[in-house]
Amino acid sequence: MTTDQTKKTFVLKGIGVSPGVVIGRAYRFDPLDSQPSFYKLNDSSLIPKEIQRFKKALKESELQLLKVQENLKKTKIAEPLYIIDVHILILKDKKFVNRTIKYIRRLEINAEWAVRLTLDRYEQIFEGLEDSYIRGRISDVQYVSQRVLRNLSGEKKETIWGISEEIIVIAKDISPADTAQMKLEKVIGFATDTGGRTSHTAIVARDMELPAVVGLDNVTRVVRTGDEIIVDGISGVVVVNPYPEMLKRYEEKKLLYSAARDEYLKYAKLPAVTTDNYLVQIGGNIEFVEEIPSAIVHGAEYIGLYRTEFIYIGRQDLPTEEDHFNNYRQVVGAKDLLWSTIRTFDLGGDKFSSNQKQVKELNPQMGLRAIRFCLKEVEIFKTQLRAIWRAGALGKTKVLFPMISSVEEIREAKKLLEETRQELLTQGVKIASEMEIGAMIEVPAAVEIADKLAQEVDFFSIGTNDLIQYSLAIDRANERLTYLYEPLHPAVLRLIKRIVDVAHEANIRVAMCGEMAGDPLCALILLGMKLDELSMNHLAIPRIKRIIRESSVEESKKLLEKALTFSTSSEVRAYVQDYMMGRFPDEFQKEEEQNSS
Ligand code: PEP
Ligand code: MG
Repeated sequence: MTTDQTKKTFVLKGIGVSPGVVIGRAYRFDPLDSQPSFYKLNDSSLIPKEIQRFKKALKESELQLLKVQENLKKTKIAEPLYIIDVHILILKDKKFVNRTIKYIRRLEINAEWAVRLTLDRYEQIFEGLEDSYIRGRISDVQYVSQRVLRNLSGEKKETIWGISEEIIVIAKDISPADTAQMKLEKVIGFATDTGGRTSHTAIVARDMELPAVVGLDNVTRVVRTGDEIIVDGISGVVVVNPYPEMLKRYEEKKLLYSAARDEYLKYAKLPAVTTDNYLVQIGGNIEFVEEIPSAIVHGAEYIGLYRTEFIYIGRQDLPTEEDHFNNYRQVVGAKDLLWSTIRTFDLGGDKFSSNQKQVKELNPQMGLRAIRFCLKEVEIFKTQLRAIWRAGALGKTKVLFPMISSVEEIREAKKLLEETRQELLTQGVKIASEMEIGAMIEVPAAVEIADKLAQEVDFFSIGTNDLIQYSLAIDRANERLTYLYEPLHPAVLRLIKRIVDVAHEANIRVAMCGEMAGDPLCALILLGMKLDELSMNHLAIPRIKRIIRESSVEESKKLLEKALTFSTSSEVRAYVQDYMMGRFPDEFQKEEEQNSS
């Protein structure tokens, strides 16, 4: 899927109630939003007729629900059928019916108005209830009332039977009855304004095994039919109009999620230690704090890359120090993490913010992005650095500077970091007593001068996404060049090996946080180079841990040595694939089958 780059990316956060990741077009679904007219009857002789009208609408509603139930029985949705039973019971509920009739008689109002008053009364009663689950069930009464109102007014129901494209349904809430109006095989996910874990949407989505995020507050207001959206039901995040790089990352996540098998989860909490006792520390990459619980469940020992640019996205103003701090405190304060590496913002390229002193660049990937932008917009940068120092007082924090291509840049960044430290200390603000500083190695120039950079920092983190882009001169977001984007290109392997060797000679640790770190095919190649840390999309962690635990550095070194003898990417790939398939047939044969199907 391609993105419309003229549209702004923004992110909504809610509650992930049905796991999985989907990417698709939004469809705004507004099922029963009737706009009834309320009026006085003005003549008491009209009362019996009005009561009749109400009873007829009740009957019609019941028949419709029975039909819905019939239809649902033919689909996968079996469990939520009881919700329809509940709705039918409400329709027949004496209190509901009699109260409405009483309103028509006593107040001499039309049936629509009377239903509305009955609903108001129910809402009042439910609001006062202690049990939040039962309180939430007011939505059943609301659904039933809406249906009755619609039948009273004779409105046509909206259906999405006609849809031919796959859609992600955006709605206030979705009941099982609503799903009867949908062409279910075309629905691939849900995102709703209201709801919690036990809401209708959640039940329906889980039953249909479709990713869903609920409780987004205003998704129906900000998303339009046709918008491209990502629904991440694992972390409870919805991204609207994702920019290409983000889209790519989520496509990867989607694949990983569908390939993730429960049997791998048993490796999540085990250390990635080889059979000859070499320990690789495994971290998780995150973009949103909401991803942390899932990262921990999947075995992240620390956060190796927190991409902070998302704090800037989807807002009109720049984030304040408090905005930053409130994000970071949730990351560094998360239990069960050894440390958190906060990468200073990498805006520019094709990661953009809606408010930035940025001009449109012809070649943004090589433009004023990442550290270059930070060193130009010093105040924006220092705001972030201050928040990082403060967060560091709450848990072990490392700072990582992106896109370093010269020693001057790292020195300048360190100078500003020190300046903010001094300022905060003078102000008596509580901050981290120390902070490890890292440089991302993702530009070929940084590889060339890695020995010099190593004198300046405590660790390196290899960003293969950009390193491959810049070394092979391939726009990482350009779909037409995907076939050339090759982590196993001999040049890339040599570059990575050099970085690791230089780092180790200089006695600093070296991590990798690009996508390559989570690619099972590359796991032994990287192990052979003896990287200290691999940080990845957390869904990939259990599989990588399993491979490392069942291998040795010795065999990995041999594999690497052999791989480095080849002249072409395809030879390297064929060799490594063959090797890995022999070693882990269950893992790689499946992949092979998928690729060939
Ligand atoms: C990378 O370039 O590999 C990296 C991890 O950073 P990003 O993908 O955010 O540019
Ligand atoms: Mg990068």
